[in-house]
Amino acid sequence: HAQFALKRAKVTGRTEIYQPIAFRKARQRFTLETELRRAVEGGGLHLAFQPLVDLETDQVTGFEALARWKTEDGRDISPTDFIPVAEESGLIVPIGRWALDSAARTLAAWDKRTGHTLPVKMSVNLSAIQLARDDMAGALSQVIDLHGIAGNRFTLELTESAIIADPERAVRVLDSLKALDASLAMDDFGTGYSSLTYLQRLPLDILKIDRSFITGMLTDKNKIAIVRAVLSLADALGMKTTAEGIETVELSRTLAALGCAVGQGFFYSGPLDETEAFDYMVSRNN
Ligand code: C2E
Ligand code: MG
Ligand code: MG
Ligand code: MG
Repeated sequence: HAQFALKRAKVTGRTEIYQPIAFRKARQRFTLETELRRAVEGGGLHLAFQPLVDLETDQVTGFEALARWKTEDGRDISPTDFIPVAEESGLIVPIGRWALDSAARTLAAWDKRTGHTLPVKMSVNLSAIQLARDDMAGALSQVIDLHGIAGNRFTLELTESAIIADPERAVRVLDSLKALDASLAMDDFGTGYSSLTYLQRLPLDILKIDRSFITGMLTDKNKIAIVRAVLSLADALGMKTTAEGIETVELSRTLAALGCAVGQGFFYSGPLDETEAFDYMVSRNN
């Protein structure tokens, strides 16, 4: 479709300036998709690792693996820009498998380096498209076998959109992932469209409270009320909680006092490369 739009513009002999914005957008999208395909095939993606910290003990309990893309001409493209392209083009399936494999490889390397099985987990994001189209349990069990990393070292983060499209299938897939001992987290909780019905039907272990409720909660009665409500809901349903976007010591203290289990955010650390993440973990957990 994007290609067609581009050809039409050429045939009519218009210069770029007169192309309707939709054409230009379509062409940009097409170029990005082509570049992304090349990056996926040529090893142009890598992972960054952001620490997840136990708010009570201050220990690192895990890392969230976040995809990073530096193009051949050196531009950093944010996942908020390329993940949607990956989802629309289907590239998210190989990217998702790569992320799982790459996160497991890193964990295996860290275990090997320290000579024991570290008490840290890897959180990997799963797109709704992967849940709908890929064999996620098959993908996870392959990675478990290949890297010798136990299933309980993985947390899979999914968003509410992954459930909406086909809740029945979602339940089956999540059950199959639980059968491999993986933990399941609901990412960006509170920002989706779904009702609370699925919360009791899905085998979720963790609610990740979205950053939009955490940012500014200390001066916003409504936000703190929502955070309290989510914490008590999670507690009632036997789930753990993680707070995203902790940027200050005050937020970390308040969330700890409110009983939130785990924190993530720039106050602790932004996403790090593999070596920095290892060093962060070692210095914090010793
Ligand atoms: P997410 O899963 O909710 O990941 C958290 C995002 O918040 C990350 O952005 C992280 O860098 C950012 N963040 C963490 N702490 C703070 C903080 O204290 N303040 C602020 N302002 N931001 C913070 P990032 O890496 O740009 O990723 C954006 C989104 O892209 C992710 O949101 C996730 O939805 C998606 N994504 C990233 N990697 C993957 C992947 O491998 N697969 C899939 N399906 N999605 C991915
Ligand atoms: Mg996430
Ligand atoms: Mg999140
Ligand atoms: Mg988020």
